[in-house]
Amino acid sequence: MNPAEPDPVPLPEWCQLVRAANPGPMTLEGTNTYVLATTRGNIIVDPGPLIEEHLCAVSGLGPVLFTVLTHHHLDHTEGAAWFHEVTGAPVRAQDPSLCIDGDPLAPDGAYLDTPDLQLRLIHTPGHTADSICLEITRGTWRGLLSGDTLLGRGTTVVAHPDGQLGAYLESLAKLRAVLGPDHVLLPAHGPVRASAAAVVEQYIAHRQARLDEVRAARMAGAQTARQVVEIVYSDVDPSLWPAAERTVAAALDYLDAAG
Ligand SMILES: [Zn+2]
Repeated sequence: MNPAEPDPVPLPEWCQLVRAANPGPMTLEGTNTYVLATTRGNIIVDPGPLIEEHLCAVSGLGPVLFTVLTHHHLDHTEGAAWFHEVTGAPVRAQDPSLCIDGDPLAPDGAYLDTPDLQLRLIHTPGHTADSICLEITRGTWRGLLSGDTLLGRGTTVVAHPDGQLGAYLESLAKLRAVLGPDHVLLPAHGPVRASAAAVVEQYIAHRQARLDEVRAARMAGAQTARQVVEIVYSDVDPSLWPAAERTVAAALDYLDAAG
């Protein structure tokens, strides 16, 4: 195993990770679909892409109570309509246009109606405007389903202009306030991590460092997002530069708004 990879974190038996076969630079090993077993059926978080083998593997785990989408990106939502047709279970999301036979998720801090475990909604705009996280509590076990707001490794893209860096930084601060030392991180891409709080701290430090670099690149004469990327992301594989350019555009927007 790559020494840089964190050790796999065991999940409780009622929580299963089913990974879709859609690996890529943005999706890492693929989209993680989470299946939370309850006495009234499974709760599905992000059915993932429209890959029938994956959706059948998820629906084959038992009757579905409802499905939740963490945000609108296709690698999380593309399979939702097919999955709804097969399972008959409502699909819920922050954005009403993504809901199928279910109500939009609102308001911030609300508990979803679930048996056996608590699911608390945390609005975390930034990666996209409609991004949410869900805090899970079951007995003494606590976790954070983070969608793409926090990933199992690397950092997330603030997908400008739908994603906003100011909102993202506020969302990280909100998560910092909510998370205790024992919240397990259940990200939509990459491995499960033992401490969501530790990942939030890394993300905040990383964003501040990148902002400092963007400021410095500007002082050095870079004007466009592309020029900033060529300086700041010179250590990153160029295949990721288009995504970095969106993140830098969000940073420039943020710095301009901050004056
Ligand atoms: Zn994703």
